[in-house]
Amino acid sequence: MRIVLASRNAHKIVEMRRIAPGIDWVAMPDELPDPPETGDTFLANALEKARFVYAHTGQLALADDSGLEVDALGGRPGVYSKRFSPEGTDTANNAKLLAELGERTDRSARFRCVIALVGPGVERTASGSCEGHVGYAARGVGGFGYDPLFIPAGGTRAMAEHAPAEKDAISHRGAALAQLPGLLQGLS
Ligand code: IMP
Repeated sequence: MRIVLASRNAHKIVEMRRIAPGIDWVAMPDELPDPPETGDTFLANALEKARFVYAHTGQLALADDSGLEVDALGGRPGVYSKRFSPEGTDTANNAKLLAELGERTDRSARFRCVIALVGPGVERTASGSCEGHVGYAARGVGGFGYDPLFIPAGGTRAMAEHAPAEKDAISHRGAALAQLPGLLQGLS
């Protein structure tokens, strides 16, 4: 099964290839602009990105929209996780998150991921989440984004201190992509 990845996030692409190695993942054509994400939900954005890539390639496309919801911040940064700080870099986003939380002790949070598969007459979605909390300092060198600050429930290590296979087994992206076989049913 060949699927075009509706993303240019190199880290996400590595994870998706790793989690679902049985798929012939194809990169988005270079000439396409970045897919738009104008929605205010993960679902709307995932569908928008996958529809865009399907419309321009005519091939089955899969998008991931994901982010971190922090309860003490009313669910922010949520769908704006990538653009939380003005710089939009992982380092600046993590610094802003630490600054906003300060010394608060209510630090519960979750990663969410919605995937959307769009093809001829087909629009299917699945979601996954990973509960945990935000630590007080960045730790670890694995993963990307907020992984150095996010401590999955039931443990004490930051996600960035987990081996790749350990992250995939508990992550929001792993949980969403575990449903891919069901999404692909009936497609050839
Ligand atoms: P998107 O490309 O609009 O879906 O934005 C995703 C953003 O959410 C990333 O840039 C990260 O800031 C954050 N994010 C999503 N998944 C992860 C993850 O697995 N680890 C850490 N941060 C993540």
